[in-house]
Amino acid sequence: MSIASYAIVLGTAQDGGIPHAGCYKPCCERARQNPKLRRLPSSLALIDPLTRQRFIIDCTPEFPRQLDLLNAHSDRSWGLSGVLLTHAHIGHYTGLIHLGREVMGTRALPVYAMPHMAEFIRSNAPWRQLVDFGHIELRDLEADQSLSLTENLSVIPHLVPHRAEISETVGFTITGSQNSAFYLPDIDDFESWDRSLEAVIEQVDRAWIDGTFFDAKELPGRDLSTIPHPLISETLKRLETSSKALRVKVHFIHLNHSNPVCQTDHPAYRQIQASGCQLAADGDRFEL
Ligand SMILES: [Zn+2]
Ligand SMILES: [Zn+2]
Ligand SMILES: [Zn+2]
Repeated sequence: MSIASYAIVLGTAQDGGIPHAGCYKPCCERARQNPKLRRLPSSLALIDPLTRQRFIIDCTPEFPRQLDLLNAHSDRSWGLSGVLLTHAHIGHYTGLIHLGREVMGTRALPVYAMPHMAEFIRSNAPWRQLVDFGHIELRDLEADQSLSLTENLSVIPHLVPHRAEISETVGFTITGSQNSAFYLPDIDDFESWDRSLEAVIEQVDRAWIDGTFFDAKELPGRDLSTIPHPLISETLKRLETSSKALRVKVHFIHLNHSNPVCQTDHPAYRQIQASGCQLAADGDRFEL
C-alpha cells in the first residue's frame, strides 16, 4: 500500500444527489435503473495511512453510503478522525445526524466549522444534541489559517460568496506531502470572489470546483438567480485562454441532476472532454 496521503471523492452531485427526489425525467429515471449513473452529494475524504487517520469534508444526507465507499478505499478500523464543514446547506451537514446516539454514537468526534456554522450547530436542535451529549466536539476554523490535520495533511479554509442565510461558506486548500488540491462545491459565481480562480488553480495540483449547472437553459421554470452558481459553459469559456496544464487540473463536482454533462451521449459532455477540463466521478482517488 502507498504511504502517501490521498483523497477519495465520496460524491459529485449537488445536495439532492442523483437520482433526485421527485424528479421523474430521464435524468433521474435513467439513474434509478442504472446504478452506474447515480451520484452521491459532493463530499471528499482525506486519508493519511501513516497516521491511520481519515477525515471527511462535508457530511451529506448520504453519509452512510459514503462511509461504505470510504471503507472500500481505506481501512475501516482507522475510524473517523474528523469532519470539516463547508456550509449550512442541507447537502453539506445533515448527515451529522448519523453521529448521534440513534446510530453511531461517536465520542467527541472533532467537527471543524467556521464561526457561524459552528454557532448554528451549537444552537439548533437536533444538531445541538450532538454537542450537548458529547458525540461531536466543535472546533473553529479560521479563514485563511492553516489547520494541520496530521503531520502529512493540512487544510486552509477560504471564504467564498454563496447564499449566506445560515452560515458563511468556505472552500478548502488541502496540502499533502506530495500534492495539493482545492475543494469548492458551492460558490455563487467566480467573478464576485476576492480571489482569481486561475490563481487558485495555479497553486494546486487538482481543483474540484462547482459545476452545478451547465448552462442557463437547464432548469426551465426555475429562476436561476435564486440559486446562483457558476455555469460550466461560462467556466470553460473563462479558462479557454489558460494553459492546458491549468485546465487539466479542473474537475467539476456538485453536479445538479439536470446537468446534461451527466449523460455521456450529450454534446455538453463532449464539450467538457474537448475543453481539457474533467468531470469528477464518485470514487476518484488523488494522491496528496
Ligand atoms: Zn451544495
Ligand atoms: Zn432529474
Ligand atoms: Zn450551498
